[in-house]
Amino acid sequence: MLAKLAKLGIHHRADLLLHLPLRYEDETQITPIADAQPGMTVQVQGIITHSEVMFRPRRSLVCRLMEGHEELTLRFLNFYPSQQKQLAVGKQIRAIGEVRLRHGGAKPSGAGAGASHLLPQSAGSASNVSEVRMGYFGLEMVHPKCRAADDDTPLQQSLTPIYPTTAGLAQPVLRKLINNALETIPLSDTLPAPLLKKLKLADFGDSLRLLHNPAADVSATALEEHNHDAWRRIKFDELLAQQLSMRVHHRERSKRIAPALPPHQKLTSALLKKLPFNLTGAQQKVWQEIAHDLTQAHPMQRLLLGDVGSGKTIVAALAALQAIENGYQVAFMAPTEILAEQHYLKLSEWLVPLGITPVWLSGSLKKKEKTAAAERIATGDTLLAIGTHALFQASVEFNKLGLVIVDEQHKFGVQQRLELRNKGKSSQTVRPELVEGTNGAPNLNTLRQGSPEQSRRAQGERSGVIHEPHQLMMSATPIPRTLAMSYYADLDVSVIDELPPGRTPIVTKLVSDARRDEIFERVRTACLAGRQAYWVCPLIEENEVSAQANVSETNVKRSGRSQSDARQLQNAIETHQQLTEALPELKVGLAHGRLPPAEKAAVMAAFKAGELHLLVATTVIEVGVDVPNASLMVIDHAERMGLAQLHQLRGRVGRGAAESLCVLLFMQPLSELARERLKVIYENTDGFVIAQQDLQLRGPGELLGARQSGVAMLRFADLTEDEGLLEQARLTADELLRDAPDVARAHLQRWMANKHDFLQV
Ligand code: ADP
Ligand code: MG
Repeated sequence: MLAKLAKLGIHHRADLLLHLPLRYEDETQITPIADAQPGMTVQVQGIITHSEVMFRPRRSLVCRLMEGHEELTLRFLNFYPSQQKQLAVGKQIRAIGEVRLRHGGAKPSGAGAGASHLLPQSAGSASNVSEVRMGYFGLEMVHPKCRAADDDTPLQQSLTPIYPTTAGLAQPVLRKLINNALETIPLSDTLPAPLLKKLKLADFGDSLRLLHNPAADVSATALEEHNHDAWRRIKFDELLAQQLSMRVHHRERSKRIAPALPPHQKLTSALLKKLPFNLTGAQQKVWQEIAHDLTQAHPMQRLLLGDVGSGKTIVAALAALQAIENGYQVAFMAPTEILAEQHYLKLSEWLVPLGITPVWLSGSLKKKEKTAAAERIATGDTLLAIGTHALFQASVEFNKLGLVIVDEQHKFGVQQRLELRNKGKSSQTVRPELVEGTNGAPNLNTLRQGSPEQSRRAQGERSGVIHEPHQLMMSATPIPRTLAMSYYADLDVSVIDELPPGRTPIVTKLVSDARRDEIFERVRTACLAGRQAYWVCPLIEENEVSAQANVSETNVKRSGRSQSDARQLQNAIETHQQLTEALPELKVGLAHGRLPPAEKAAVMAAFKAGELHLLVATTVIEVGVDVPNASLMVIDHAERMGLAQLHQLRGRVGRGAAESLCVLLFMQPLSELARERLKVIYENTDGFVIAQQDLQLRGPGELLGARQSGVAMLRFADLTEDEGLLEQARLTADELLRDAPDVARAHLQRWMANKHDFLQV
């Protein structure tokens, strides 16, 4: 029993209170069978006049329920002998379920029932329903809930709640437990009356009681669609708890210790002087914000948001230099090998002349090379390590880590973000509700500054305190304000809201795959004129739905990705062959995630150096790849890709002075959703607008990667619908933390009782 409850997320008795119904059944009245319409869920009462087990199309128990002259079929595909007894001929029962038209069923051999299912209901005369005709027409209920009842059996006084449950835990048992909890646990309000009045919120206890046992006259629809006032209160409370917990995390930072890394303006100024461009105003602004954070003696937790191509890398490089100037190490991580490598090359180009030589570390290095790299990191021989999540493996120990930079952080998740933050602290501080769902993702929790003794020796000797590194996270996934407020409430956010000058806008064209040959010509002409082009092959999955969920090869969150990966690879290889044959005068390269790293690096380098005209690639290039001379992008099967991915891909061009073109090749017929998406990407170039539309098309869970995102922590509220409530919750959270920390604590206690990490108000 306890195990079953735990499966439902119920660990304490108080958790029962917030285990809210999915829907309700109305057993407060009886509907005459004559009034029952297909599609309605009703309670009927009558006498069983026929009951038999049929074997075709499959074994099922079929009963006839009569109420006067009206009849209704009850059908059970799974049934127990006890049910058969309950439904024996002559029994009087009440049945509740959805009424539907009977359809289908085996045609009993030899019975001339060929077209009988076409006959109107009256044709099966009530007095003569033969076995042969049972189940062919009229109304039926499949798996109704039945109980013995006669005319004197009282009706329910309130709607009957149906709870989410698990196998072996019956509704009545759950209901009893919950009602008991409702009666015995004090439902005092965590929020003060004036606040409730101001926000026009219902009382907490009243709301809960209503949701668990609504009176017969409460609209079941308002309850089920979560727009009843009682729901509003619960959703507000949930959002408030979420905002509080994230703000608490944010505030708690001031109690934690990080090395203060003040600007010395030596390396940073030297780099700025060497750059062939000036920082944009937006870059300067965010750089100031970051430089200031690094100066503080508690860990920075800053998210740098900027649309694709806005120039985040240089800002990251400056941040790294400020740490290095202070003699601290920097770990710079990217989610894919190609991207990490590109950062490695770019930063080497910028920093080697300044005397800083980065070390490269990725999963695909040979063991010996890995050991050598780890050695240089552990001894402090190198101050800058760049790589994939291999940087965070247990075997890598930093000597004196001052700053962690995570590029494309949306590819990781909230969980990793929190774990990263918790590193250096004891491992129990990982938030329990986020631990499942790790899914083979990189475990940043193992990122350590050497063994505890080592780090103490290295840096904490004077104080005996373990320092945490500062964190800079970067993302090009512009998320709408509502989501940002909720999702990033525990971070400070800097936004680069301006693109570097001299960019020519990208022209986007939608082209049907039927005109593929024309596009070949287009690529030929462009490349022969000295331009370079990408041809991107999508993830092809038989299951259209999951393909639409924006799953990409670079998505490190997925562990079971080999099959679809292989298909994408196959597709890329075939396309590469097709293009090589169709365009013999062009040099065509192929890049995908399965290439040996050296080969992949060679292909990318050749493309970057202009030695290849055309690069056929899987979505491995989705994030970050930067080749300014590439000004034509063809995206194959664009209808299968998500908006965020299309936007990212398109952002690979338009980085130079030449006018860029992005061709979205699509295969007909288009689904409604695909049509919508293509329209959005065709009409918009602003990442924020696209993200907003994406939110509307897909909902927040998917936009951020449902399981990983903080959004998944919300059980009741829905960020697309409850934007207003969220804003109120956010303001209230700040207010409470400032003026009434006791109230905040009590509220968190109720909502996050077993998640002690949240409670350090
Ligand atoms: P993203 O924000 O997508 O990571 P990058 O950092 O890759 O963008 O920058 C995109 C391109 O713009 C790079 O080639 C980079 O060198 C260039 N760039 C960055 N800042 C500026 C600037 N202020 N002026 C001109 N070019 C810039
Ligand atoms: Mg980038």
